[in-house]
Amino acid sequence: MLDFTASNNGASTFCSAINCIDGRVQLPVIQYLTRWFHVDFVDIVSDTGPVGVLAHYPDSDRAGSIYRRIDVSRDAHKSHGLAIVAHHDCAGNRRPFEGQIEDLHASAANLRRRYSGFPVLALWVGSDWTVEHVQDGR
Ligand SMILES: [Zn+2]
Repeated sequence: MLDFTASNNGASTFCSAINCIDGRVQLPVIQYLTRWFHVDFVDIVSDTGPVGVLAHYPDSDRAGSIYRRIDVSRDAHKSHGLAIVAHHDCAGNRRPFEGQIEDLHASAANLRRRYSGFPVLALWVGSDWTVEHVQDGR
């Protein structure tokens, strides 16, 4: 049995992100989210084009692995909220911009159903590698 009890005695504050593996989007998302949630650190669950997984295969083993890792961040680190991220030129989701935004919205809706009461942000990282807030779900 995994132990999801608090692990840092409240010394640091966290939020969570489901982001692509792509190295170009890591720092922009971390910088955006630490400011947005006023936290010290961002726990990152990475996958290749995760919005495609959560939008089209929400009940798959692969999605289940993402949820389990977010659960640890939420429960053990008392995460302040969650972001789901899609981005320009994604090797893991080759859909055009409109399709990726559609996947992003569907993923955010899925996560809001799953994590009611937990803020879920939808973020897009564009061709200039800056973060755009697509919707904040409040
Ligand atoms: Zn990607």
